Amino acid sequence: MKRFLVDKIDSVVTLKGQEFAHLSRVLRLHVGDRVILNARDGYDYISEVASITPDSCTLRVLEQITNSADLPMRLTAYCALIKGDHMNYLIQKLTELGVSDFVPITTTRTVVKDKGTKRDRLQAISDQATKQCGRSRAMIVHDVMSLESAVEEFSGYDAVYFANTKESQNLGINVVNIDNPNIAFVIGPEGGFDSHEDALIMGSATSVTLGKRILRADTASIVMATKILIAYGQV
Ligand code: SAM
Repeated sequence: MKRFLVDKIDSVVTLKGQEFAHLSRVLRLHVGDRVILNARDGYDYISEVASITPDSCTLRVLEQITNSADLPMRLTAYCALIKGDHMNYLIQKLTELGVSDFVPITTTRTVVKDKGTKRDRLQAISDQATKQCGRSRAMIVHDVMSLESAVEEFSGYDAVYFANTKESQNLGINVVNIDNPNIAFVIGPEGGFDSHEDALIMGSATSVTLGKRILRADTASIVMATKILIAYGQV
């Protein structure tokens, strides 16, 4: 069944705008067809198209079931800003993997010129990926933050892993064995972190390698998220 994002759920839901256009013009669904409504609340709402007008449709909610694709843990990605297309790709892939929060960070060697927020556009990319991969709770894209502010948040996590090209220790041996863990990871810019930044992060995070080859920042983020999910039994 096709999935549609809604802001809030009720016994009858009206769909307008982009989601309506997708349902009526792209998928050409009709009255009586069934879809899943996703209100980003951890549930799938099995619904039936009840009526269609030229610019909206109504859906009757038939059943509420727990979404099985959401991760039973929180995983936050603190990733240095990277260039447009790579960032779009990264947002899509981290959403597919189940990452709960994405925090773009600025660092000394961040070269991306537009450090202003593109949060809405990145959130829209993540929302589309949310629908496609079947999860309910969307990945939240946060405003750009400095590395220093990011590090101040690290004490709030059960564990924070720092992908460090100068490290030889692997992630596997650091796993914290708890229910619903709240984990974060940090990935540097294409030019890497400088020595001051390395020291700052290592004061509050566990430094780990991603292997002997230097990965591009987007690849490194995807590998890091995957390694954490494997280590915490989520793949
Ligand atoms: N010359 C830079 C350096 O040595 O740090 C390369 C930076 S790399 C393109 C971008 C980021 O990806 C790094 O800052 C690091 O966080 C992560 N990364 C890439 N390859 C890695 C590896 N083999 N082990 C750990 N982290 C890695």
